[in-house]
Amino acid sequence: MNKVRLYPQLELLNTWAIDRTRFSPDATEPPLCLRCGRPLNPVLSRNGHSRYIDVRICDTCGTDEAFSDALGFPKRFFLWDAVENQRLKVPADDDAWLLKSACPFYQIYLETSEDLLGHKSPRTELAYSRSDYDGHRWWTTWFTAREELKTPERIEEIDRFMESLFDLPEMASLETMRQMCRFYAEPTSEPTEFNLYCDTDHFHVWLRLVTRQRDYNLYVHFYVTDEKK
Ligand SMILES: [Zn+2]
Repeated sequence: MNKVRLYPQLELLNTWAIDRTRFSPDATEPPLCLRCGRPLNPVLSRNGHSRYIDVRICDTCGTDEAFSDALGFPKRFFLWDAVENQRLKVPADDDAWLLKSACPFYQIYLETSEDLLGHKSPRTELAYSRSDYDGHRWWTTWFTAREELKTPERIEEIDRFMESLFDLPEMASLETMRQMCRFYAEPTSEPTEFNLYCDTDHFHVWLRLVTRQRDYNLYVHFYVTDEKK
């Protein structure tokens, strides 16, 4: 399994796989719609199909998805009822690094210092990458922020993270990344810019995703969590 994955993709699929077993063929106690929290129709076929992830949603949500999709404002997964109200059934033995839409490490931005590049940045920033998609493949350039933070284990983990990130089907092209941002990432005041955050074994990782063509499309910042080597 990929080391990096999008939250709450597998969680929603897994929860639906369990909920699905209540229909045999009809449900006496139908599970709650993952999107709105109301009970599904006891007859499976009378429910809708999400157009964004392979789960059933209630008929009302099916209609609502069609409308909001047409308007260009789909309901992001982190606003789905099952996610907001923590009804997700987490897959067992999952040690993946989760890409999330909310920042769990604000505090690191409070302590900054000047890095090798002459920028003020969190004093735990080891390096960042800048990538662009040229229509065929990704091109990545690296910038070291603090040489003294480099260790073989950390470098190895950065490599593993990036390899795993670009292995995601959502990163196959700029178009798939754009689609992914609409559902999984944190929006910003700029409609073509999004954020994702991840905690790995050694790092807080901030991904800034830019969905514009002919621009840099991805910045990945690595902040060490264990400053003692
Ligand atoms: Zn619903």
